[in-house]
Amino acid sequence: MFDVGVNLTSKKFLKDREKVVQRARAVGVTGMVIISCTLSDSRQAIMLAKEGENYFWCTVGVHPNYANTWSQKVGVDMRPLIYEPCVVAIGECGLDFHRSFATKKKQIDAFQAQIELAVELSVPLFLHCRNAHKCLMSILKPWLPHLPSVFLHCFTGTQVELEVYIEHGIFIGVTGWICDVYRGRDLRQLISLIPSDLLLIETDAPWLLPMGMDLAPPSKRNEPCFLPHIIQTVAILRGDDMIELSKKITLNAHKLFHLI
Ligand SMILES: [Zn+2]
Repeated sequence: MFDVGVNLTSKKFLKDREKVVQRARAVGVTGMVIISCTLSDSRQAIMLAKEGENYFWCTVGVHPNYANTWSQKVGVDMRPLIYEPCVVAIGECGLDFHRSFATKKKQIDAFQAQIELAVELSVPLFLHCRNAHKCLMSILKPWLPHLPSVFLHCFTGTQVELEVYIEHGIFIGVTGWICDVYRGRDLRQLISLIPSDLLLIETDAPWLLPMGMDLAPPSKRNEPCFLPHIIQTVAILRGDDMIELSKKITLNAHKLFHLI
C-alpha cells in the first residue's frame, strides 16, 4: 500500500522521523510521497526523499495558504528542483478560500504560475482545493489536455464537484477524514462513486488523525502507519476486499506519478 500524501518535513516529525518511517514500513506501507507547502519545504522534502530511493518521492510547490510567499523569483528557484528524479509532482498548489491566508488574487497568481510550470515541464499536478471548486476548475480546465495527470488531494467536496473531477479524469485522494462518521458523512456516502482507477488514499500525516482506531496515540499526531486503518474503512464502505484495494491504490499511485 502506498501513502500519496505525507507532510514528513513537518516539525511534528522532527524528533522521531526515522521511527515514524520504520513503523510505516512495518505495517506494509511500500512507498510514500512527501508533500511540500513552500519553497524551503520543497528543498527539505527533496533531501528527505533522497534518503530512501524507491521508497520516498516528493512534490515541489507552494500551497495556497502560503501564496504570500510566491513570487516570480520563487518560480525561477523552483524550476531546477523539479528536475530532481525524486520529484513526481508540482504541489500542493491550488486554492483555499476557506482559510484565505492570502488574497484570492495572490492565490490565483501562484496557482496559475505553477500550472504553467507543470505544463511546460510535463509534470503531474498535486492539487489542494477548499471552498474554491468552481474557481479552481475554471482556471485548470483549459490546461487539462496538456498535463500528464492531475491529483486532487484530500477530497471533501460535494457530489457535483466529485462528478466534475471524475469527468476530467482527475485522480481523487481520500484521507482519514472518511473515518469520521460525523464530519466525514458526505464523503462516506460518495466514496462508492469514485471509479477504482482514480482512487488514492493518503494519511496527510501529521494532520487528520483517523477516528475509530483502537490504539490512537495520545498526541493526536497522525502517522503513515495508520494508512491501513483508512484503507480498511474505505474497503468496508465500498464493499471492496482490503488487499485488492491496497494493490489497486498502489498501482494507481504508480500510474499517477509515473513511478515505473
Ligand atoms: Zn492540502
